[in-house]
Amino acid sequence: MTGTTGTGVRDTATLLQLVESELAPTLADGALSTDPDVLESYSRDEALFCPADGAVALVRATTVADVQATLRFASAYRIPVVPQGARSGISGGANAVPGCLLLSVERMSRILAVDVAERSVTVEPGVINQDLKNAVAEHGLSYPPDPGSVAISSIGGNVATNAGGLCCVKYGVTKDYVRRLTVVLADGTLATLGTGTAKGVAGLDLRGLFVGSEGTLGVIVEITLRLVPLLPEPLTAVATFTDERSAAATVADFMASGAQPSMLESLDRTTLRLLNEYGDFGLDDRAGAMLLMQSDGSGNRAAALAEVESFTARAEANGALDTGYSEDTADNEALVATRRLAQPAYERYAQAHGGGQLLDDICLPRARMPEFYDGLDRVRATSGLTIAVVAHAGDGNIHPSVFFDARDPADVERAERAFEEIMRLGLELGGTITGEHGVGYLKREWLPRELDEGNRRLHRAVKEALDPDGILNPGKMFADL
Ligand SMILES: Cc1cc2nc3c(=O)[nH]c(=O)nc-3n(C[C@H](O)[C@H](O)[C@H](O)COP(=O)(O)OP(=O)(O)OC[C@H]3O[C@@H](n4cnc5c(N)ncnc54)[C@H](O)[C@@H]3O)c2cc1C
Repeated sequence: MTGTTGTGVRDTATLLQLVESELAPTLADGALSTDPDVLESYSRDEALFCPADGAVALVRATTVADVQATLRFASAYRIPVVPQGARSGISGGANAVPGCLLLSVERMSRILAVDVAERSVTVEPGVINQDLKNAVAEHGLSYPPDPGSVAISSIGGNVATNAGGLCCVKYGVTKDYVRRLTVVLADGTLATLGTGTAKGVAGLDLRGLFVGSEGTLGVIVEITLRLVPLLPEPLTAVATFTDERSAAATVADFMASGAQPSMLESLDRTTLRLLNEYGDFGLDDRAGAMLLMQSDGSGNRAAALAEVESFTARAEANGALDTGYSEDTADNEALVATRRLAQPAYERYAQAHGGGQLLDDICLPRARMPEFYDGLDRVRATSGLTIAVVAHAGDGNIHPSVFFDARDPADVERAERAFEEIMRLGLELGGTITGEHGVGYLKREWLPRELDEGNRRLHRAVKEALDPDGILNPGKMFADL
């Protein structure tokens, strides 16, 4: 590559020379790579339609000192830095930008301490979510946030995107578990934010500022998370409907009743069909929608059963085709596992139909979900594209997947328009352009449409204060603010 870096104007050859002569000696052995094949494989996350070219070097940090050295060097020469966890993101947030250093913390993957009395765990950022869950379970504790990417995403990435998931409807999202963060600021300074204690109100909540900051304010190098006792075994109920609107109305009614499901997911007709094509799941694909509800009754079996009955009654009042529930652990786990296979089923369908899948992520007030599905039918009709939907419906968090032929420019354009129409619909209905996947590159143009002028000004002021040279993940979340 020739040309200039994003901030400090410099040609790539000079930059590489500086990296080798000044950065390399300050890093642990093997941390630095400038091999083009390695750079290529680390240059992107799971998002489509996001540029990912121009990385100059990759630092695979193994220590906090590696991260500090990288940022000191980058800030001295005003070189863009892209923090990376496991690169499972779907908004292009971890993608390379021209002239950047990729700063991966995946090798910082130690669980440092489990404190049973405090019900907390302290980890390095590269720990995979499922590994953390398994480790704390041995101490009789749970870490609830469970993104669909639980087996492949890092805790640092989960914090940086404030990841959600299936059980958030009762147990909350990542931010509800973050007690303390250690971050490396743009100039290499180390800062500890929040406290290790259950309570703490000394100073501003800067820890909260970093949760969901998508690598634009600093690099998270240590995290202390709140834990809870092992979650009780849930009952699982299923209801099928002729259409998505009736399922959405059931969700709104059920949540308005004060219910506290530990999971409430919806799958549309296309998802049921694609899952049945993917494996032998026996889902009722004549149905237009299915709801999957779990209730753990907070450990009280009778309360869980009452909640299942209340769910069933509301589903029937909204014209359910069929309802049922199971107390069998294996059945329950199989149903949830099937729900988690929606994405692989989508991928197989996309591969057979031109390769394109744009996964959207809006969040709505629950009561507006029925209207959303009416609007989505209009988007389906106008675009002529297949749009399948899964939703963390109990949270109003909807994931429409727009399928298209990636080889056909007209189809690509139709898909991009449909993707935008879905966000527009989300905003019109009082929702947000992203419930959990983040802004990244993919939605950067849409962020100013959601935030009012006062909020945009605050965003700019925070960025200016923490990253005055704009070296942290440029071209992403803040780009159009
Ligand atoms: C199949 C699949 C299912 C998914 N399901 C869900 C879901 O249910 N809920 C959900 O919320 N998300 C989901 N995601 C999206 C993704 O997994 C999450 O956004 C996850 O939190 C990203 O973690 P990561 O370690 O892969 O981060 P990356 O993709 O590497 O990075 C994500 C962002 O965080 C920044 N970042 C990463 N680590 C750090 C750090 N240590 N310090 C500062 N910034 C950092 C990056 O710069 C980037 O902007 C899914 C993705 C896939 C592929």
